[in-house]
Amino acid sequence: MTTTLITGANKGLGYETARRLIAAGHTVYVGSRDEARGRDAAERLGDGARAVQLDVTDDASVAAAARTIEADGGLDVLVNNAGVEARGPDNGVAAAADVTADLMREVFETNVFGTVRVTHAFLPLLRRSASPVVVNVSSGLASLTYVADPAHPASAYPGVAYPASKTALNMLTVQYAKAFPAMRINAVEPGFTKTDLNGNTGTQTVEEGAEIIVRMAGLGPDGPSGGYFDVTGPLPW
Ligand code: NAP
Repeated sequence: MTTTLITGANKGLGYETARRLIAAGHTVYVGSRDEARGRDAAERLGDGARAVQLDVTDDASVAAAARTIEADGGLDVLVNNAGVEARGPDNGVAAAADVTADLMREVFETNVFGTVRVTHAFLPLLRRSASPVVVNVSSGLASLTYVADPAHPASAYPGVAYPASKTALNMLTVQYAKAFPAMRINAVEPGFTKTDLNGNTGTQTVEEGAEIIVRMAGLGPDGPSGGYFDVTGPLPW
């Protein structure tokens, strides 16, 4: 049996990934920073779902979640999905001129330091798994190749903090993958998906967006590691 933890699984892509992995037979810990939202989500997901309070910005919360999951029997798959966008004064994507060190810190606290905090806390559990897997939910906006190419749609995106955080996440993926060759550790780009993150302006459904997350969460020991993928295959860094 495979046990999986998904951070930020109370809604959006994390929730849909939980739904699909439960259908595939995983026991899924539904990470949610808000206990009630997590409990509601786990109830809706039904058998195979277990709510766990987990705020990726909070050491104590992450440590408590790791103790709970360890006591229950351990972890095979970690999906670092929790993420935030940087909002400007008009609640749109923060323009370059509005990016402050504080805003940058806030976005990195969740998207980058949060991933490190959770990965660090769960590494001892993953190391005991026969087939450990980590999926880092990145973005196409992490790709320097895409964002620097005027012909690519990603280059039109005006934000600074969010893409920088996802590029950093990609680097974490590469370095962790080399450090832990027994684990499959990859970054994925779900595609522009209708969720609260973008005010539900995304063009894909969550079913479409979760596809690559689900696929990489299900990798066996022979699967790739240290890569960056969308549903069509490897992406340029
Ligand atoms: P979403 O619906 O806004 O979901 C984000 C999830 O992250 C929510 O469950 C949220 O919890 C949680 N979260 C935020 N801060 C957290 C924290 N400190 N601790 C724990 N959980 C936290 O957005 P989504 O689109 O599904 O995003 C999921 C991932 O996909 C993110 O990493 C995002 O960057 C990435 N992504 C999304 C798109 C897209 O087009 N949607 C494209 C590329 C990549 P609350 O409900 O408590 O806020």
